[in-house]
Amino acid sequence: MSVRLLSLASGSSGKCYYVSKSEYGILIDAGIGSRTIKKRLKEHGIDMSRILAVLVTHDHYDHVKSVAVLGEVYHLPIYSTEKVHWGIFYNKKVTEKLSPANKRVIENSVPFEIKEMKITSFHLPHDANDNSGYVIEVEGKTLTIATDLGKATSDLKTYIANSDYLILESNYDADMLAKGSYPEVLKRRILGTNGHLSNTDAAQLLAECATDRLKQVCLCHLSKENNKPNLAEEAVLSQLKTKTKVVALPRNQVYCLDLV
Ligand SMILES: [Zn+2]
Ligand SMILES: [Zn+2]
Repeated sequence: MSVRLLSLASGSSGKCYYVSKSEYGILIDAGIGSRTIKKRLKEHGIDMSRILAVLVTHDHYDHVKSVAVLGEVYHLPIYSTEKVHWGIFYNKKVTEKLSPANKRVIENSVPFEIKEMKITSFHLPHDANDNSGYVIEVEGKTLTIATDLGKATSDLKTYIANSDYLILESNYDADMLAKGSYPEVLKRRILGTNGHLSNTDAAQLLAECATDRLKQVCLCHLSKENNKPNLAEEAVLSQLKTKTKVVALPRNQVYCLDLV
């Protein structure tokens, strides 16, 4: 298969996705350690030298833990908006700092290319310095990635309607969050329009926007405390009007999907 998605991690402790076309690929977020990325790719026969770039959604630690290491040690160009670069630089948990030489600044809605991959970023509302979703077009297939969003935007709805594959946040089950042990202030943050999407939010969004073109949805960023894979999958399947396959990505192991 020539175009493949590997979800290397999708749990609350870190997110990292690899999209490849034949012999090369790109990472989207690097919220796990670089050694873990190397190990998990190697288990699938992929050497770090095949990675051409890292796209970053936003500057929260669970998405950027090893971004600067990938830039400085592996000499990979790191793509994000200026505001996200700024947020990563000033994120106290990120001890390694990215040098200007490895920094690539993108603007939302302005497409760019990495070899045969055409990439377009778009804004998503979240309580980070900035947050971008990504649309990756390769070999006639379109993969959209939308993680960490308090609510859906009209741009996102349009991108979903024109996607073959989608990675979409389905962070929490509303009942589990309400009855769970999180402090009230954190619950309000998660529920807010700059917080996260619930299973019901994801289900309603897909019921509204998914078309028969959409082959598979990968639900990501499931909360360990406030969600369960079967709850997320069932919520979406109960409302979906298309034959789209629905899979909750595993939190801490690799999930592999051939797109072409
Ligand atoms: Zn976040
Ligand atoms: Zn996150």
